[in-house]
Amino acid sequence: VTVIGKPERAVVTTCAYCGVGCAFRAEMKGEQLVRMVPWKDGKANHGHSCVKGRFAWGYANHKDRITKPMVREKITDPWREVSWDEAIGFAADKIKTIKAEHGARALGGITSSRCTNEETFLVQKLIRAGFGSNNTDTCARVCHSPTGFGLSTTFGTSAGTQNFDSAEKTDVFLLIGANPTDAHPVFGSRMKKRLREGGKIIVVDPRRIDLVKSPHIEAAHHLPLQPGTNVAVLTSIAHVIVTEGLAAEDFIRERCDWDEYQDWARFVSQEKNSPEFLEAVTRVPAETVREAARLFATGGNGAIYYGLGVTEHSQGSSTVMAIANLAMATGNIGREGVGVNPLRGQNNVQGACDMGSFPHELPGYRHISQPDVRELFENDWGVKLDPEPGLRIPNMLDAAVDGSFKAIYIQGEDILQSDPDTKHVSAGLAAMDCVIVHDLFLNETAHYAHVFLPGSTFLEKNGTFTNAERRVQAVRKVMEPANGYEDWEVTQLLANAIGCEWSYTHPGQILDEIARLTPGFAGLNWDRVDANEQLQWPVNDKAPQGSPIMHVDGFVRGKGKFVVTEYVPTDEKTGPRFPLLLTTGRILSQYNVGAQTRRTGNNVWHEEDILEMHPTDAENRMVSTGDFVKLASRSGETTLRVLVTDRVAPGVVYTTFHHPNTQANVVTTDNSDWATNCPEYKVTAVQVTPSNGP
Ligand code: SF4
Repeated sequence: VTVIGKPERAVVTTCAYCGVGCAFRAEMKGEQLVRMVPWKDGKANHGHSCVKGRFAWGYANHKDRITKPMVREKITDPWREVSWDEAIGFAADKIKTIKAEHGARALGGITSSRCTNEETFLVQKLIRAGFGSNNTDTCARVCHSPTGFGLSTTFGTSAGTQNFDSAEKTDVFLLIGANPTDAHPVFGSRMKKRLREGGKIIVVDPRRIDLVKSPHIEAAHHLPLQPGTNVAVLTSIAHVIVTEGLAAEDFIRERCDWDEYQDWARFVSQEKNSPEFLEAVTRVPAETVREAARLFATGGNGAIYYGLGVTEHSQGSSTVMAIANLAMATGNIGREGVGVNPLRGQNNVQGACDMGSFPHELPGYRHISQPDVRELFENDWGVKLDPEPGLRIPNMLDAAVDGSFKAIYIQGEDILQSDPDTKHVSAGLAAMDCVIVHDLFLNETAHYAHVFLPGSTFLEKNGTFTNAERRVQAVRKVMEPANGYEDWEVTQLLANAIGCEWSYTHPGQILDEIARLTPGFAGLNWDRVDANEQLQWPVNDKAPQGSPIMHVDGFVRGKGKFVVTEYVPTDEKTGPRFPLLLTTGRILSQYNVGAQTRRTGNNVWHEEDILEMHPTDAENRMVSTGDFVKLASRSGETTLRVLVTDRVAPGVVYTTFHHPNTQANVVTTDNSDWATNCPEYKVTAVQVTPSNGP
């Protein structure tokens, strides 16, 4: 970081990395950003930050930024730099031609969880009202779509129930499939603080993460389960709670559907769901499960936090519902210190979901098939909407290979690197007649693009992000966009070029439209955002100051719904050819595919993806720390270095997915969640063999 003299002014804005949503003062000298300082009045971070938010913003000025639009007829042609007019006209002609020849459903798009609420709202509006199809999806498809399904089904809405401050009142954390000290560091530190003050934690994770044991911290219980067995572990915990009479029956009778509870209680009480019976599946000692269950049910305020280790499984949605069942069964909903909290990965994945990015839902999680909801939007937008849900990302790619899906607009998402089964993604993209990539860098997906529209960073735009605790915070322009436009303006240019008549001049007007059409946002406007009120939705007549805790007097759906979640083993099996199970995660200093963190001008960020392997497995393969190995699965293979460590159990290997050279998703499977198609990134049968290097 280069500090150039004393700052002259500061602009308060919000970090664009993880879902914690830390507020920062961007300190300026003239038009130059000097440093990012965590803002003490930020309600999500209270003056704290991690290294990414504080130091990893140099990508905004990186030489790899593309600032001029580019087009080409064929993906084998060289790129041709053109004016904005020509690029937008080129893209619009293709969209209009394809629509005329193949119909609206041959068109679709992907919204970005890195962009603002206002930008995301406009992209789904472009697709629904401009293109004329519901083929809109978002990167939540590959991370938290099971949260959407699971929490909507059980509680009635897709959101974490608590504010972060609530953790200070938690007595027992149940942390499953999340590694907050690396992936959500400011909240991870907060958990550590509570643990140092006497809180307890149960960690359910195949890996011995920092919160299992680190200086001054030791988990009450670590359940090092076999990847793919979350539902079995949660069901066995529920078995203990119900059969030992520890369920909160008064809460359940008052707040939940009692008949459904009884069906569920009968199910979990079966012998086949006992910790002893399931030990062979989960590999967690039955007594550890029993002790953990007793602690969670009787230890005071119990709060469940989870991450992608829950959702990115073939039973991702079932696991989310199993978590909700457990919270209701123990009465841990609707007050401080308790609740169910998905730790959202990206800065605005909550917002992208709220804004109607999914193919079946309009903004505010209302199904596209509901005539009254459609009518509300149709009247406001002056169009007729397709009543049928559209295609999800994997289905768009399938349809492209089959020849019925022809064009896609992708804003701020590198699906070739981040989605599973890279071969299938590239086949789908290659089959399309028009791929429009709107991004900061010429990413991997752009290899298949016909139009490249330069994007703007969070430092170059106004708008809002919504963090993992539903907090809507201001994003403010710190510098002028290098490409000349904020992302919402580019979407508007494209919309108007295909015949829409949009005339937004500030994101506040888009926020007004969101508030007009979305009950949970009815009380929000730009003045309140600009005053840094940092409110948590719902914000409306019933909750004018927002809602730190949800489901206080009743669930959004009325009665809480217990759902029977039977454990179903994944199709991904180990065997003689692929004897190990690979699971994946993040490290503190990198972010997702690393497009930004790898471009910060600081060597700290240039780490490589490493494969963690247990000493026994390493010895069997005659590999040591630092050696290169080939990691192969039924889908593909890659090469990376190995780290021998007992953080992982025998039979399990672990890596990150931050580097394009490794492309960890070359090996992941095309298995996905039964309800949402969220890919099963967390379980891949692999073989590891020595290698001489890439
Ligand atoms: Fe940004 Fe998350 Fe780090 Fe906060 S914890 S500074 S939001 S990456």
